Amino acid sequence: MKSLDTLTFDPRFARLGNAFSAVVQPSAVEQAKMVICSREALALLDLPAHTAADPQLLALASGAWHWPQVEPRAMVYSGHQFGGYTPRLGDGRGLLLAEVLNAAGEHWDVHLKGAGMTPFSRTGDGRAVLRSSIREFLASEYLHRLGIPTTRALCVTDSSTMVWREQRETAAMLIRLAPSHIRFGHFEYFYYNKQYTELEQLHAHVLNDLYPECLTADEPLAALLEAVVKRTAETIALWQAYGFCHGVMNTDNMSILGLTFDFGPYAFLDDFKQNYICNHSDRQGRYAYNQQVAMGYWNLTAFAETLTRYVSIERLQGILDGYAALQQQAYLKAMRARLGLVGQQDTDAVLIEKLLLQMDQSGVDYTLFFRNLGEQPVEQALATLRADFINQAAFSEWSAEFVARCANDTRSQAQRRTEMHKVNPLYMLRNYLIQLAIDEAEDGNYEPLHKLHEVLRNPFTEQVGCETYAERPPQWGKHLAISCSS
Ligand code: AMP
Ligand code: MG
Ligand code: MG
Repeated sequence: MKSLDTLTFDPRFARLGNAFSAVVQPSAVEQAKMVICSREALALLDLPAHTAADPQLLALASGAWHWPQVEPRAMVYSGHQFGGYTPRLGDGRGLLLAEVLNAAGEHWDVHLKGAGMTPFSRTGDGRAVLRSSIREFLASEYLHRLGIPTTRALCVTDSSTMVWREQRETAAMLIRLAPSHIRFGHFEYFYYNKQYTELEQLHAHVLNDLYPECLTADEPLAALLEAVVKRTAETIALWQAYGFCHGVMNTDNMSILGLTFDFGPYAFLDDFKQNYICNHSDRQGRYAYNQQVAMGYWNLTAFAETLTRYVSIERLQGILDGYAALQQQAYLKAMRARLGLVGQQDTDAVLIEKLLLQMDQSGVDYTLFFRNLGEQPVEQALATLRADFINQAAFSEWSAEFVARCANDTRSQAQRRTEMHKVNPLYMLRNYLIQLAIDEAEDGNYEPLHKLHEVLRNPFTEQVGCETYAERPPQWGKHLAISCSS
Protein backbone atom coordinates (compact mmCIF):
# COMPACT_ATOMS: atom_id res chain seq x y z
CA MET A 1 0.00 0.00 0.00
CA LYS A 2 1.01 3.57 -0.69
CA SER A 3 0.24 6.99 0.72
CA LEU A 4 -0.43 10.20 -1.20
CA ASP A 5 3.23 11.11 -0.66
CA THR A 6 4.73 7.92 -2.05
CA LEU A 7 2.89 7.49 -5.38
CA THR A 8 4.86 6.88 -8.56
CA PHE A 9 4.29 9.25 -11.48
CA ASP A 10 4.76 8.62 -15.18
CA PRO A 11 3.75 11.83 -16.98
CA ARG A 12 3.31 10.40 -20.47
CA PHE A 13 0.82 13.02 -21.60
CA ALA A 14 2.44 15.94 -19.77
CA ARG A 15 5.70 15.12 -21.52
CA LEU A 16 4.11 15.99 -24.86
CA GLY A 17 4.52 19.59 -23.80
CA ASN A 18 2.78 22.93 -24.07
CA ALA A 19 1.14 22.47 -27.47
CA PHE A 20 -1.08 19.86 -25.79
CA SER A 21 -1.89 21.47 -22.47
CA ALA A 22 -1.38 24.56 -20.35
CA VAL A 23 0.12 24.50 -16.88
CA VAL A 24 -2.51 25.88 -14.50
CA GLN A 25 -2.65 26.05 -10.72
CA PRO A 26 -5.94 24.90 -9.19
CA SER A 27 -7.79 27.60 -7.30
CA ALA A 28 -8.87 26.43 -3.89
CA VAL A 29 -12.38 26.74 -2.49
CA GLU A 30 -13.37 27.84 1.04
CA GLN A 31 -14.21 25.46 3.88
CA ALA A 32 -13.86 22.27 1.89
CA LYS A 33 -15.59 19.11 3.13
CA MET A 34 -15.25 15.53 1.94
CA VAL A 35 -18.66 14.41 0.66
CA ILE A 36 -17.98 10.88 -0.50
CA CYS A 37 -15.01 8.72 -1.44
CA SER A 38 -14.81 5.39 -3.27
CA ARG A 39 -12.58 2.83 -1.59
CA GLU A 40 -12.43 0.80 -4.83
CA ALA A 41 -11.12 3.86 -6.66
CA LEU A 42 -8.57 4.52 -3.89
CA ALA A 43 -7.35 0.96 -4.36
CA LEU A 44 -6.63 1.68 -8.03
CA LEU A 45 -3.95 4.08 -6.78
CA ASP A 46 -2.80 1.55 -4.14
CA LEU A 47 -4.21 3.85 -1.46
CA PRO A 48 -5.75 2.24 1.64
CA ALA A 49 -9.40 2.88 2.52
CA HIS A 50 -8.51 5.16 5.44
CA THR A 51 -7.11 7.69 2.93
CA ALA A 52 -10.74 8.80 2.60
CA ALA A 53 -10.36 10.62 5.94
CA ASP A 54 -6.84 11.94 5.22
CA PRO A 55 -6.70 15.78 5.31
CA GLN A 56 -4.19 15.61 2.48
CA LEU A 57 -6.79 13.99 0.21
CA LEU A 58 -9.27 16.72 1.15
CA ALA A 59 -6.65 19.34 0.28
CA LEU A 60 -5.93 17.64 -3.06
CA ALA A 61 -9.63 17.30 -3.84
CA SER A 62 -10.42 20.93 -3.09
CA GLY A 63 -7.57 22.57 -4.98
CA ALA A 64 -5.58 23.53 -1.88
CA TRP A 65 -2.64 21.22 -2.47
CA HIS A 66 -1.15 19.19 -5.30
CA TRP A 67 1.91 17.07 -5.80
CA PRO A 68 4.93 19.38 -6.09
CA GLN A 69 6.80 17.09 -8.47
CA VAL A 70 4.19 17.24 -11.29
CA GLU A 71 2.51 20.31 -12.76
CA PRO A 72 -1.28 20.37 -13.11
CA ARG A 73 -2.34 20.80 -16.73
CA ALA A 74 -5.45 21.79 -18.65
CA MET A 75 -5.67 19.81 -21.89
CA VAL A 76 -6.56 21.42 -25.20
CA TYR A 77 -9.08 19.77 -27.54
CA SER A 78 -11.97 20.71 -29.78
CA GLY A 79 -15.03 18.83 -30.90
CA HIS A 80 -18.35 18.54 -32.67
CA GLN A 81 -21.08 19.69 -30.30
CA PHE A 82 -24.58 18.69 -31.40
CA GLY A 83 -23.25 18.28 -34.92
CA GLY A 84 -21.45 21.61 -35.22
CA TYR A 85 -17.70 22.05 -34.97
CA THR A 86 -16.27 24.19 -32.15
CA PRO A 87 -12.61 24.89 -32.99
CA ARG A 88 -11.39 25.16 -29.40
CA LEU A 89 -12.80 23.65 -26.22
CA GLY A 90 -10.27 22.18 -23.79
CA ASP A 91 -10.42 21.64 -20.04
CA GLY A 92 -12.35 24.72 -18.98
CA ARG A 93 -12.70 23.60 -15.39
CA GLY A 94 -10.72 20.41 -15.02
CA LEU A 95 -7.02 19.79 -14.48
CA LEU A 96 -4.89 16.75 -15.02
CA LEU A 97 -3.14 16.75 -11.63
CA ALA A 98 -0.95 13.74 -12.22
CA GLU A 99 -0.44 10.52 -14.15
CA VAL A 100 0.05 7.74 -11.63
CA LEU A 101 1.66 4.37 -12.26
CA ASN A 102 0.32 1.82 -9.78
CA ALA A 103 1.92 -1.37 -8.46
CA ALA A 104 0.04 -3.46 -11.02
CA GLY A 105 1.63 -1.41 -13.81
CA GLU A 106 -1.59 0.44 -14.65
CA HIS A 107 -1.63 4.14 -15.50
CA TRP A 108 -4.27 6.35 -13.89
CA ASP A 109 -4.82 10.00 -14.73
CA VAL A 110 -5.86 11.94 -11.64
CA HIS A 111 -8.17 14.66 -12.93
CA LEU A 112 -9.68 17.36 -10.72
CA LYS A 113 -12.99 18.65 -12.09
CA GLY A 114 -14.15 22.06 -10.85
CA ALA A 115 -10.61 23.29 -10.12
CA GLY A 116 -11.14 26.87 -11.33
CA MET A 117 -10.51 28.92 -14.46
CA THR A 118 -8.11 27.84 -17.19
CA PRO A 119 -7.20 29.34 -20.60
CA PHE A 120 -10.08 27.21 -21.95
CA SER A 121 -12.83 28.42 -19.63
CA ARG A 122 -14.43 30.63 -22.34
CA THR A 123 -17.45 32.18 -20.59
CA GLY A 124 -17.51 29.63 -17.75
CA ASP A 125 -16.40 30.09 -14.16
CA GLY A 126 -14.22 27.00 -13.99
CA ARG A 127 -16.37 25.47 -11.31
CA ALA A 128 -18.63 22.43 -10.90
CA VAL A 129 -21.63 22.21 -8.59
CA LEU A 130 -22.43 19.59 -5.99
CA ARG A 131 -25.38 17.95 -7.74
CA SER A 132 -23.51 17.26 -10.99
CA SER A 133 -20.40 16.09 -9.13
CA ILE A 134 -22.48 13.62 -7.12
CA ARG A 135 -24.22 12.48 -10.30
CA GLU A 136 -20.89 11.77 -12.02
CA PHE A 137 -19.52 10.03 -8.94
CA LEU A 138 -22.49 7.68 -8.64
CA ALA A 139 -22.68 6.88 -12.35
CA SER A 140 -18.97 6.16 -12.74
CA GLU A 141 -18.88 3.73 -9.87
CA TYR A 142 -22.22 2.13 -10.79
CA LEU A 143 -21.41 1.60 -14.48
CA HIS A 144 -18.19 -0.03 -13.39
CA ARG A 145 -20.18 -2.41 -11.20
CA LEU A 146 -22.38 -3.31 -14.16
CA GLY A 147 -19.27 -4.14 -16.17
CA ILE A 148 -19.63 -1.19 -18.53
CA PRO A 149 -16.33 0.51 -19.46
CA THR A 150 -16.19 3.90 -17.78
CA THR A 151 -14.01 6.51 -16.20
CA ARG A 152 -13.91 6.16 -12.41
CA ALA A 153 -14.57 8.56 -9.57
CA LEU A 154 -12.36 8.84 -6.51
CA CYS A 155 -14.17 11.43 -4.41
CA VAL A 156 -16.36 14.52 -4.25
CA THR A 157 -15.80 17.58 -2.06
CA ASP A 158 -18.13 20.47 -1.35
CA SER A 159 -17.34 23.98 -0.09
CA SER A 160 -18.81 27.25 1.06
CA THR A 161 -17.69 29.01 -2.14
CA MET A 162 -20.77 30.05 -4.10
CA VAL A 163 -21.35 29.91 -7.85
CA TRP A 164 -24.28 30.87 -10.06
CA ARG A 165 -26.19 28.40 -12.20
CA GLU A 166 -29.97 28.72 -12.45
CA GLN A 167 -29.67 29.56 -8.75
CA ARG A 168 -26.86 30.07 -6.24
CA GLU A 169 -25.10 26.80 -5.49
CA THR A 170 -21.94 25.69 -3.79
CA ALA A 171 -18.76 24.90 -5.70
CA ALA A 172 -17.85 21.22 -5.53
CA MET A 173 -15.01 19.20 -7.02
CA LEU A 174 -14.70 15.65 -8.26
CA ILE A 175 -11.56 13.61 -8.71
CA ARG A 176 -11.90 11.44 -11.79
CA LEU A 177 -9.59 8.56 -12.67
CA ALA A 178 -9.03 7.13 -16.15
CA PRO A 179 -6.11 5.46 -17.92
CA SER A 180 -6.24 8.44 -20.29
CA HIS A 181 -8.38 11.54 -20.80
CA ILE A 182 -7.77 11.70 -24.54
CA ARG A 183 -10.93 12.30 -26.53
CA PHE A 184 -11.80 12.21 -30.24
CA GLY A 185 -11.67 16.00 -29.93
CA HIS A 186 -7.92 15.95 -29.26
CA PHE A 187 -7.33 14.59 -32.76
CA GLU A 188 -9.83 17.00 -34.29
CA TYR A 189 -8.07 19.98 -32.70
CA PHE A 190 -4.71 19.33 -34.33
CA TYR A 191 -6.20 18.07 -37.59
CA TYR A 192 -8.40 21.09 -38.25
CA ASN A 193 -5.63 23.46 -37.13
CA LYS A 194 -3.31 21.73 -39.60
CA GLN A 195 -0.80 21.13 -36.77
CA TYR A 196 0.38 17.88 -38.29
CA THR A 197 3.57 17.60 -36.25
CA GLU A 198 1.51 17.67 -33.06
CA LEU A 199 -1.10 15.36 -34.57
CA GLU A 200 1.65 12.85 -35.28
CA GLN A 201 3.04 13.23 -31.76
CA LEU A 202 -0.44 12.49 -30.48
CA HIS A 203 -0.62 9.39 -32.69
CA ALA A 204 2.71 8.19 -31.34
CA HIS A 205 1.60 8.68 -27.73
CA VAL A 206 -1.74 6.94 -28.25
CA LEU A 207 -0.19 4.02 -30.13
CA ASN A 208 2.81 3.53 -27.83
CA ASP A 209 1.08 4.07 -24.52
CA LEU A 210 -2.58 3.14 -25.04
CA TYR A 211 -2.74 0.78 -28.03
CA PRO A 212 0.69 -0.89 -28.25
CA GLU A 213 -0.94 -3.93 -29.88
CA CYS A 214 -1.57 -1.78 -32.98
CA LEU A 215 2.10 -0.97 -33.51
CA THR A 216 2.87 -4.23 -35.28
CA ALA A 217 -0.03 -3.93 -37.75
CA ASP A 218 0.73 -3.15 -41.41
CA GLU A 219 -0.92 0.26 -40.89
CA PRO A 220 -0.90 1.09 -37.16
CA LEU A 221 -3.35 3.99 -37.55
CA ALA A 222 -5.83 1.79 -39.41
CA ALA A 223 -5.47 -0.75 -36.62
CA LEU A 224 -6.05 2.06 -34.13
CA LEU A 225 -9.33 3.02 -35.80
CA GLU A 226 -10.34 -0.62 -35.83
CA ALA A 227 -9.67 -0.94 -32.10
CA VAL A 228 -11.48 2.30 -31.27
CA VAL A 229 -14.47 1.29 -33.41
CA LYS A 230 -14.65 -2.03 -31.58
CA ARG A 231 -14.42 -0.57 -28.09
CA THR A 232 -16.91 2.20 -28.85
CA ALA A 233 -19.36 -0.27 -30.38
CA GLU A 234 -19.12 -2.57 -27.38
CA THR A 235 -19.54 0.17 -24.80
CA ILE A 236 -22.58 1.65 -26.55
CA ALA A 237 -24.05 -1.85 -26.94
CA LEU A 238 -23.93 -2.17 -23.15
CA TRP A 239 -25.51 1.27 -22.72
CA GLN A 240 -28.39 0.04 -24.85
CA ALA A 241 -28.66 -3.27 -23.03
CA TYR A 242 -28.78 -1.58 -19.63
CA GLY A 243 -30.84 1.47 -20.59
CA PHE A 244 -28.10 4.05 -20.08
CA CYS A 245 -28.64 7.38 -21.81
CA HIS A 246 -25.45 9.45 -22.00
CA GLY A 247 -27.12 12.70 -22.96
CA VAL A 248 -24.21 14.62 -24.55
CA MET A 249 -22.40 12.41 -27.04
CA ASN A 250 -20.34 15.24 -28.51
CA THR A 251 -16.97 14.21 -29.93
CA ASP A 252 -15.21 16.01 -27.07
CA ASN A 253 -16.97 13.60 -24.71
CA MET A 254 -15.91 10.47 -26.62
CA SER A 255 -13.02 8.64 -24.99
CA ILE A 256 -10.30 7.24 -27.23
CA LEU A 257 -10.41 4.20 -24.94
CA GLY A 258 -14.13 3.63 -25.51
CA LEU A 259 -14.95 4.53 -21.91
CA THR A 260 -18.21 6.10 -20.83
CA PHE A 261 -16.95 9.63 -20.36
CA ASP A 262 -17.99 13.11 -19.20
CA PHE A 263 -21.34 12.53 -17.60
CA GLY A 264 -23.74 15.35 -18.05
CA PRO A 265 -27.48 14.97 -17.79
CA TYR A 266 -27.35 11.18 -18.15
CA ALA A 267 -30.14 8.84 -17.07
CA PHE A 268 -30.84 5.16 -16.76
CA LEU A 269 -34.27 4.30 -18.12
CA ASP A 270 -36.91 3.56 -15.52
CA ASP A 271 -39.88 2.74 -17.80
CA PHE A 272 -38.58 1.49 -21.12
CA LYS A 273 -38.90 4.26 -23.69
CA GLN A 274 -37.14 4.02 -27.06
CA ASN A 275 -37.07 7.72 -27.83
CA TYR A 276 -36.27 8.90 -24.33
CA ILE A 277 -34.33 12.18 -24.20
CA CYS A 278 -32.60 12.68 -20.86
CA ASN A 279 -30.98 16.03 -21.67
CA HIS A 280 -33.39 18.86 -21.10
CA SER A 281 -31.52 21.04 -23.64
CA ASP A 282 -31.55 18.41 -26.41
CA ARG A 283 -34.78 19.63 -27.98
CA GLN A 284 -34.42 17.60 -31.18
CA GLY A 285 -33.48 14.37 -29.48
CA ARG A 286 -30.15 14.08 -31.25
CA TYR A 287 -28.88 12.01 -28.32
CA ALA A 288 -32.12 10.19 -27.47
CA TYR A 289 -31.71 6.63 -26.19
CA ASN A 290 -32.53 5.09 -29.58
CA GLN A 291 -30.10 7.42 -31.39
CA GLN A 292 -27.01 6.48 -29.40
CA VAL A 293 -25.86 3.69 -31.70
CA ALA A 294 -26.10 5.95 -34.76
CA MET A 295 -24.41 8.81 -32.91
CA GLY A 296 -21.56 6.50 -31.96
CA TYR A 297 -21.05 5.88 -35.68
CA TRP A 298 -21.27 9.59 -36.46
CA ASN A 299 -18.60 10.31 -33.87
CA LEU A 300 -16.33 7.55 -35.13
CA THR A 301 -16.64 9.03 -38.61
CA ALA A 302 -15.53 12.39 -37.20
CA PHE A 303 -12.52 10.65 -35.61
CA ALA A 304 -11.72 8.77 -38.84
CA GLU A 305 -11.71 12.08 -40.72
CA THR A 306 -8.65 13.09 -38.67
CA LEU A 307 -6.79 10.03 -40.01
CA THR A 308 -7.40 10.79 -43.70
CA ARG A 309 -3.90 12.19 -44.24
CA TYR A 310 -2.44 8.87 -43.17
CA VAL A 311 -4.81 6.09 -44.20
CA SER A 312 -6.79 5.75 -47.44
CA ILE A 313 -10.45 6.74 -47.37
CA GLU A 314 -11.39 3.28 -48.63
CA ARG A 315 -9.62 1.56 -45.78
CA LEU A 316 -11.08 3.93 -43.19
CA GLN A 317 -14.58 3.49 -44.60
CA GLY A 318 -14.15 -0.28 -44.63
CA ILE A 319 -13.30 -0.23 -40.93
CA LEU A 320 -16.21 2.09 -40.12
CA ASP A 321 -18.49 -0.29 -42.02
CA GLY A 322 -17.70 -2.94 -39.43
CA TYR A 323 -19.23 -0.88 -36.63
CA ALA A 324 -22.85 -1.94 -37.05
CA ALA A 325 -22.08 -5.66 -36.90
CA LEU A 326 -19.74 -5.31 -33.92
CA GLN A 327 -22.32 -3.30 -32.05
CA GLN A 328 -25.19 -5.69 -32.89
CA GLN A 329 -23.06 -8.69 -31.85
CA ALA A 330 -22.19 -7.17 -28.49
CA TYR A 331 -25.77 -6.03 -27.95
CA LEU A 332 -27.25 -9.45 -28.69
CA LYS A 333 -24.71 -11.10 -26.41
CA ALA A 334 -25.72 -8.85 -23.52
CA MET A 335 -29.44 -9.15 -24.22
CA ARG A 336 -29.34 -12.94 -24.52
CA ALA A 337 -27.70 -13.05 -21.11
CA ARG A 338 -30.28 -10.67 -19.67
CA LEU A 339 -33.11 -12.82 -21.05
CA GLY A 340 -31.46 -16.06 -20.01
CA LEU A 341 -31.33 -17.35 -23.59
CA VAL A 342 -28.96 -20.25 -24.14
CA GLY A 343 -27.00 -20.41 -27.37
CA GLN A 344 -27.69 -18.22 -30.41
CA GLN A 345 -30.60 -18.39 -32.83
CA ASP A 346 -31.22 -16.25 -35.91
CA THR A 347 -34.61 -15.20 -34.61
CA ASP A 348 -33.21 -13.76 -31.34
CA ALA A 349 -32.92 -10.21 -32.63
CA VAL A 350 -36.56 -10.16 -33.71
CA LEU A 351 -37.69 -11.75 -30.46
CA ILE A 352 -35.91 -9.01 -28.51
CA GLU A 353 -37.27 -6.25 -30.73
CA LYS A 354 -40.83 -7.48 -30.30
CA LEU A 355 -40.44 -7.50 -26.54
CA LEU A 356 -39.00 -3.99 -26.45
CA LEU A 357 -41.81 -2.67 -28.59
CA GLN A 358 -44.33 -3.97 -26.08
CA MET A 359 -42.32 -2.74 -23.12
CA ASP A 360 -42.27 0.69 -24.72
CA GLN A 361 -46.05 0.69 -25.34
CA SER A 362 -46.74 -0.40 -21.79
CA GLY A 363 -44.05 1.59 -19.96
CA VAL A 364 -42.63 -1.54 -18.33
CA ASP A 365 -39.82 -1.07 -15.81
CA TYR A 366 -36.67 -1.92 -17.76
CA THR A 367 -34.70 -3.15 -14.75
CA LEU A 368 -37.24 -5.18 -12.85
CA PHE A 369 -38.58 -7.01 -15.92
CA PHE A 370 -35.31 -8.89 -16.41
CA ARG A 371 -34.76 -9.44 -12.71
CA ASN A 372 -38.24 -10.92 -12.27
CA LEU A 373 -37.87 -13.02 -15.41
CA GLY A 374 -35.08 -14.92 -13.68
CA GLU A 375 -36.75 -15.06 -10.30
CA GLN A 376 -39.21 -17.84 -11.21
CA PRO A 377 -39.29 -20.63 -13.82
CA VAL A 378 -39.98 -19.22 -17.31
CA GLU A 379 -43.71 -19.84 -17.58
CA GLN A 380 -44.44 -18.77 -14.03
CA ALA A 381 -42.36 -15.63 -14.45
CA LEU A 382 -44.17 -14.70 -17.64
CA ALA A 383 -47.53 -15.23 -15.95
CA THR A 384 -46.50 -12.78 -13.22
CA LEU A 385 -45.02 -10.24 -15.62
CA ARG A 386 -48.00 -10.16 -17.98
CA ALA A 387 -49.91 -7.85 -15.61
CA ASP A 388 -47.51 -5.06 -16.66
CA PHE A 389 -48.44 -5.27 -20.34
CA ILE A 390 -51.31 -3.38 -21.94
CA ASN A 391 -51.72 -5.50 -25.05
CA GLN A 392 -52.35 -8.89 -23.47
CA ALA A 393 -52.84 -10.73 -26.77
CA ALA A 394 -49.51 -9.51 -28.09
CA PHE A 395 -47.79 -10.45 -24.85
CA SER A 396 -49.29 -13.97 -24.96
CA GLU A 397 -48.03 -14.39 -28.49
CA TRP A 398 -44.57 -13.20 -27.50
CA SER A 399 -44.58 -15.41 -24.39
CA ALA A 400 -45.32 -18.48 -26.49
CA GLU A 401 -42.38 -17.68 -28.77
CA PHE A 402 -40.16 -17.07 -25.78
CA VAL A 403 -41.14 -20.35 -24.10
CA ALA A 404 -40.39 -22.19 -27.35
CA ARG A 405 -37.02 -20.43 -27.57
CA CYS A 406 -36.21 -21.60 -24.02
CA ALA A 407 -36.83 -25.25 -24.88
CA ASN A 408 -33.06 -25.81 -25.30
CA ASP A 409 -32.40 -24.63 -21.73
CA THR A 410 -31.44 -27.69 -19.68
CA ARG A 411 -30.42 -25.77 -16.55
CA SER A 412 -32.21 -26.17 -13.26
CA GLN A 413 -34.26 -23.14 -12.24
CA ALA A 414 -31.81 -22.52 -9.39
CA GLN A 415 -28.93 -22.40 -11.83
CA ARG A 416 -30.84 -20.30 -14.35
CA ARG A 417 -31.81 -17.85 -11.62
CA THR A 418 -28.22 -17.54 -10.35
CA GLU A 419 -26.86 -16.92 -13.83
CA MET A 420 -29.55 -14.41 -14.77
CA HIS A 421 -29.27 -12.52 -11.49
CA LYS A 422 -25.55 -12.08 -12.15
CA VAL A 423 -26.31 -9.88 -15.14
CA ASN A 424 -29.64 -8.36 -14.11
CA PRO A 425 -29.29 -5.81 -11.32
CA LEU A 426 -31.93 -5.60 -8.63
CA TYR A 427 -30.76 -2.12 -7.64
CA MET A 428 -30.62 0.49 -10.35
CA LEU A 429 -29.11 3.96 -10.22
CA ARG A 430 -32.49 5.60 -10.67
CA ASN A 431 -32.74 9.32 -11.20
CA TYR A 432 -35.12 9.85 -8.33
CA LEU A 433 -32.82 8.00 -5.90
CA ILE A 434 -29.97 10.24 -7.01
CA GLN A 435 -32.19 13.28 -6.56
CA LEU A 436 -33.18 12.29 -3.01
CA ALA A 437 -29.52 11.82 -2.09
CA ILE A 438 -28.58 15.15 -3.68
CA ASP A 439 -31.33 17.05 -1.85
CA GLU A 440 -29.99 15.78 1.47
CA ALA A 441 -26.35 16.35 0.53
CA GLU A 442 -27.14 19.95 -0.41
CA ASP A 443 -28.39 20.35 3.16
CA GLY A 444 -25.15 18.89 4.49
CA ASN A 445 -26.44 15.38 5.22
CA TYR A 446 -24.32 12.85 3.32
CA GLU A 447 -25.79 9.74 4.96
CA PRO A 448 -28.42 8.99 2.28
CA LEU A 449 -25.76 9.41 -0.43
CA HIS A 450 -23.39 7.04 1.37
CA LYS A 451 -26.19 4.52 1.84
CA LEU A 452 -27.18 4.69 -1.84
CA HIS A 453 -23.57 4.25 -2.95
CA GLU A 454 -23.20 1.34 -0.53
CA VAL A 455 -26.30 -0.48 -1.86
CA LEU A 456 -25.25 0.11 -5.45
CA ARG A 457 -21.80 -1.37 -4.83
CA ASN A 458 -23.52 -4.75 -5.05
CA PRO A 459 -26.35 -4.18 -7.52
CA PHE A 460 -26.89 -7.87 -8.25
CA THR A 461 -27.14 -9.05 -4.64
CA GLU A 462 -30.32 -8.74 -2.63
CA GLN A 463 -29.53 -6.84 0.57
CA VAL A 464 -31.46 -7.00 3.83
CA GLY A 465 -33.53 -3.90 4.60
CA CYS A 466 -32.97 -2.36 1.15
CA GLU A 467 -36.39 -3.09 -0.37
CA THR A 468 -37.13 0.56 -1.10
CA TYR A 469 -34.04 0.84 -3.32
CA ALA A 470 -35.42 -1.90 -5.56
CA GLU A 471 -38.87 -0.41 -6.03
CA ARG A 472 -40.25 1.26 -9.12
CA PRO A 473 -39.97 5.03 -8.87
CA PRO A 474 -42.91 7.09 -7.63
CA GLN A 475 -44.73 9.04 -10.33
CA TRP A 476 -42.88 12.29 -9.55
CA GLY A 477 -39.57 10.51 -9.89
CA LYS A 478 -40.02 9.33 -13.47
CA HIS A 479 -38.61 11.29 -16.41
CA LEU A 480 -37.06 14.02 -14.28
CA ALA A 481 -35.72 16.66 -16.65
CA ILE A 482 -32.02 17.00 -16.07
CA SER A 483 -30.57 20.37 -16.89
CA CYS A 484 -27.33 20.64 -18.80
CA SER A 485 -25.98 23.26 -16.38
CA SER A 486 -23.41 21.67 -14.17
P1 AMP B 1 -19.17 19.56 -21.00
O1 AMP B 1 -20.53 19.93 -21.48
O2 AMP B 1 -19.07 19.42 -19.51
O3 AMP B 1 -18.62 18.37 -21.70
O4 AMP B 1 -18.23 20.79 -21.33
C1 AMP B 1 -18.03 21.30 -22.62
C2 AMP B 1 -16.94 22.35 -22.58
O5 AMP B 1 -17.31 23.42 -21.73
C3 AMP B 1 -15.62 21.85 -22.04
O6 AMP B 1 -14.59 22.53 -22.71
C4 AMP B 1 -15.68 22.25 -20.58
O7 AMP B 1 -14.41 22.36 -20.00
C5 AMP B 1 -16.38 23.58 -20.67
N1 AMP B 1 -17.10 23.94 -19.44
C6 AMP B 1 -18.24 23.37 -18.95
N2 AMP B 1 -18.60 23.96 -17.80
C7 AMP B 1 -17.68 24.93 -17.54
C8 AMP B 1 -17.49 25.89 -16.50
N3 AMP B 1 -18.35 25.99 -15.50
N4 AMP B 1 -16.41 26.70 -16.57
C9 AMP B 1 -15.55 26.62 -17.60
N5 AMP B 1 -15.67 25.76 -18.61
C10 AMP B 1 -16.72 24.90 -18.59
MG1 MG C 1 -17.00 17.45 -21.89
MG1 MG D 1 -32.45 21.48 -2.77
